[in-house]
Amino acid sequence: MIPHDPHHPETRTVHHSVPQPTGSRPVGVPLYQGHLFSFADAEEMAAAFQEPETTFFYNRYGNPTVRALEEAVAGLEGGTAGLAFASGMGAINGVLLALLKPGDHVIAQRCLFGGTYTVLDDLATRWGVEVTHVSGGDPAEVRAALRPTTRLLYLETIANPTTRVGDLPALISEAAGHGLTTVVDNTFATPLLCRPLDHGADIVIHSATKYLGGHSDVLGGVAVFGSDELRRRVWRYATEQGASADPFAAWLTLRGMQTLALRLERQCANALTLARRLADHPAVTAVHYPGLPGHPDHAIARRLLAGGAGGGVLAFDLAGGRQAGRTVIESVRLASLSPSLGDVKTLVMHPASTSHRQLDADALAAAGIGEGTVRVSVGIEHPDDLWHDLGQALAKVA
Ligand SMILES: *Cc1c(COP(=O)(O)O)cnc(C)c1O
Repeated sequence: MIPHDPHHPETRTVHHSVPQPTGSRPVGVPLYQGHLFSFADAEEMAAAFQEPETTFFYNRYGNPTVRALEEAVAGLEGGTAGLAFASGMGAINGVLLALLKPGDHVIAQRCLFGGTYTVLDDLATRWGVEVTHVSGGDPAEVRAALRPTTRLLYLETIANPTTRVGDLPALISEAAGHGLTTVVDNTFATPLLCRPLDHGADIVIHSATKYLGGHSDVLGGVAVFGSDELRRRVWRYATEQGASADPFAAWLTLRGMQTLALRLERQCANALTLARRLADHPAVTAVHYPGLPGHPDHAIARRLLAGGAGGGVLAFDLAGGRQAGRTVIESVRLASLSPSLGDVKTLVMHPASTSHRQLDADALAAAGIGEGTVRVSVGIEHPDDLWHDLGQALAKVA
């Protein structure tokens, strides 16, 4: 029975009752797209402003669907709390700007996601935060780079696009010994392959746009914290920054995450198959994939990544350099020529002319990226179809 509503139609079009399930509960996480919450009385509303992290009142501060995503990712990473952002870059900026001030010094891996490299560069040139880049392979480099003002160590579990894997436990323990906060971008590994907080990291960052979402239909980022104190510091800044996650984006990410384990298993298996076949191809001079015994960090990857998996991203170098790289990515038919990764579909790109174009020749070489390097984010298709596609593209440069 719909209760009688004495108001005029103009009023009734605006005021609706919100059904609350009684007895039964939704199995999937409901989408709370509504962004405002109301209160029973003035005291309850005042209390919400006192405790804005635990009560919902306005989506920039928190939303039940977004909270479900934050808790899901924090749970997988073994953190105490998460914070969702509108994008991975939102999360990276949120964390760095919340924790750093002019005069602080950051030690960061040299081969970073291109956007992160630029953010650190901007922090240095515009905000007086000093940055030292290290290879990320050796704790001694962190020790050597230390200054009295060093606050933060920034790492990626699997570097892009070289797929180098640093000795995370050793690097983090070095940083912790000097009181630094360690932030690890775990986008490439996902919490199913590596949980940096278990190795002593303080904050883990994800571009949820990639493996967590998994279907190239949503942009999002999540930061996970090893302590509530850190979450509180970043949350306070993030609500001012305003890069909060949209509930629908959070909902899509949660929907995608339900198949993360299945997707990733297939992506890792496919990537290993392609890496082995690429290594035998005459046009290919090097294959960068941590799952291959010849990879410089294979031993670390076996220790660090669950099940000895190498992840779903690989890169390879071509004898023909920049032109050969571009020919190969323009010749694939099944794979998409696309800048992202972690999708169910296979994506290829040429870092030197796209994601890492801001690096000059020296910086490219220092980061270990070749002029002809092609990066492949391996999808869940049948491996023989993928190899057939890559094979016909490689034939054009052989
Ligand atoms: C894509 C990506 C980012 C940035 O994430 P967006 O969601 O695109 O803002 C950061 N780090 C890594 C490793 C990425 O791959």
